[in-house]
Amino acid sequence: MNLILYICSLKPRFLENMKEKSPSVLLIYTGGTIGMIENPDTGALESFNFDELLKQVPELKRFNYQIDTYQFQPPIDSSDMEPELWVKMVRIIEEHYDTYDGFVILHGTDTMAYTASALSFMLENLAKPVILTGSQLPIGMLRTDGKENLITAIEIAAARRPDRSPMVPEVCIFFENELMRGNRTTKVNAENFNAFRSFNYPVLATVGIHIRYNEHLIRRCPDGPLKPHYLLDKNVVMLTLFPGIQESVIGMVVRMPTIKAIVLKTFGSGNAPQKEWLVRHLKEAERRGIIVVNITQCPRGAVEMRRYGTGLQLLQAGVVSGYDSTPECAITKLMFLLGHDFSPEETRRLMDSDLAGEITK
Ligand code: ASP
Repeated sequence: MNLILYICSLKPRFLENMKEKSPSVLLIYTGGTIGMIENPDTGALESFNFDELLKQVPELKRFNYQIDTYQFQPPIDSSDMEPELWVKMVRIIEEHYDTYDGFVILHGTDTMAYTASALSFMLENLAKPVILTGSQLPIGMLRTDGKENLITAIEIAAARRPDRSPMVPEVCIFFENELMRGNRTTKVNAENFNAFRSFNYPVLATVGIHIRYNEHLIRRCPDGPLKPHYLLDKNVVMLTLFPGIQESVIGMVVRMPTIKAIVLKTFGSGNAPQKEWLVRHLKEAERRGIIVVNITQCPRGAVEMRRYGTGLQLLQAGVVSGYDSTPECAITKLMFLLGHDFSPEETRRLMDSDLAGEITK
């Protein structure tokens, strides 16, 4: 996809006579409902020029911040999101890392949790806020949730602690009053405004009259320069088990010539049907260097393969635990690790490690 990116400034860079530099935020608009408008002929929502839509949020001028925008051209519905565009986002952040105090990414809700998860691995040593947000209703509509989400996301991206360090130096999703660690989120609602949940990690902040940060839950990387990563491998697959699943399905996935990793969505605490052929195919996968990661179909809770015989058989077949990982996080973590060409043993070891606050061990 050919992307034309440009920066435009929403307000003068520095306010005169200010003793201290006002916070600066780069607003990266990738697309999504927040910037869409209804096509009068079809009634379908389509992307629109974001600068026009920003005029709907004059409140932004009241921030004492330098806010610049960076627009993907064309903006996309996030169902068209691709790992190449995650690379693009990382490049934009890297290029402007020293210029801004924080980054807000406007993104469609459909795949926002995937993007947030991927960025959390790709931006190693992140020391500045990267806040993703969007909306369920376009920003131009009367009842939009977009204004609130946008304004608060900017405020969070600019927030500092008393020692002037960034309040939330993490990749997060802010949506409908909650700030969540990005790689812990899942889209749960296609109707209501509270579209995201972080089932296995508490929220980093709650927004009401005040923005209440849970500082002890916020991750801070040890000092060191940002280490951006650009390599991702898409040869991964996600497979959901169900009662009655056929051997041919598992066999076909394991034998796919290009496949390097499988996220296996199992039952309960990481259990699977006790079929001889399932264990045989999983062992074959391990022999061929394919990483199989076990995550549970339950949105809340973690995999514990030693708890039942139905889980233990997977552990014995070489399956790696995904602990309490979300599907979005497990698949993007695999893309990230495989992109770095680690050996299968090293990839398995890193899947078992907490790299960016994504699992509870
Ligand atoms: N289809 C839209 C998207 O993900 C939905 C949204 O933004 O809420 O881009």
